[in-house]
Amino acid sequence: MSTMRPAHALIDLAALRHNYQLAKSLSGRKALAVIKANAYGHGAVEAAATLADLVDGFAVACLEEALELRRAGIQQPILLLEGWFEPAELELIQQHDLWCVIHHHGQLRDLEVADIRQPLTIWLKLDTGMHRVGFMPDEYPLVWRQLESSGKVRMHTHMTHFARADELDCAATEDQLRLFQHSINGLPGETSLCNSPATLAWPQAHGDWLRPGIMLYGATPFSEAQEAADQLQPVMQLDSRVIAVRQVPAGEPMGYGARYITRRPTRVGVVAMGYADGYPRHAPDGTPVLVNGQRTQLIGRVSMDMLTIDLTDLPDAGLGSPVRLWGQGLNASEVAEAAGTIAYQLFCNLNRVPRFYR
Ligand SMILES: *Cc1c(COP(=O)(O)O)cnc(C)c1O
Repeated sequence: MSTMRPAHALIDLAALRHNYQLAKSLSGRKALAVIKANAYGHGAVEAAATLADLVDGFAVACLEEALELRRAGIQQPILLLEGWFEPAELELIQQHDLWCVIHHHGQLRDLEVADIRQPLTIWLKLDTGMHRVGFMPDEYPLVWRQLESSGKVRMHTHMTHFARADELDCAATEDQLRLFQHSINGLPGETSLCNSPATLAWPQAHGDWLRPGIMLYGATPFSEAQEAADQLQPVMQLDSRVIAVRQVPAGEPMGYGARYITRRPTRVGVVAMGYADGYPRHAPDGTPVLVNGQRTQLIGRVSMDMLTIDLTDLPDAGLGSPVRLWGQGLNASEVAEAAGTIAYQLFCNLNRVPRFYR
């Protein structure tokens, strides 16, 4: 490895297990580990294998993601969060015993004409205010009853999704919860409402099945400190090294577009990490970076393969010094906030860098 480009992601699988167990301990009930989008860039097969003996099931975005897991030998329940997109998928869904969300009328029509050999396990989606997918509250009980009597499905769980659970003092989550409870009143079945922020901060909404995603990877969904979120352990360490050091006089431009002008004689470290690796190109000057475990900052625009940092106040740092872009000691959420995005996107954008597992 010493002869290779030093940029890499080190994935701490013990931290992943810790974070799942934290989610479970908060409700004491069941939790689907959400590992869609290649486990938010962490590697879906590796994440699933790591969690397999702990989880009640997994959730992914589509059949292709579920099949990858089944091919890798994952036997736990897998929920397709948007169900099927084309009726032709129903064949493989049955073959591989996948659970399906039903969220719109087109899927009901598909079911009517589908050849179903054994009943599908269905999570029915109720739109309580997110207004993205799901049946409206006034039609929901009828849809549930009709599906129940179709003989083609096993009605399993009432499901909804919160739009603003990451806002700790926002009443919208309570409103959605009340509408959910009102809408399913009198219907049999289990319940599932909570993504990561709701799992962490809205215990009154926990229900039967949590659906934690981002928290499994150790990034807080909140922009402020929060007791449960503060116990999360970062899973991905995005690391590299200083590959060049130079002394630049005061008043000199740095990099593309001369976005940063040195304010003092500056010792600049060049790091093997760029936007082609998934580091955000729009990260501003001042975005935090760790060198030898000490904080410093990005200066100048991020380029495709390199970025530049200020080493002036870190005299011990130099050529070859280890650099951490996010991970232990620097939560991806903090970097995301500086760059005007969210940790979800930083993780999902990971590219080119090799992943190593610990
Ligand atoms: C992605 C997703 C989740 C997980 O959300 P996080 O905020 O990452 O915890 C939960 N439920 C549904 C329906 C999702 O699509």
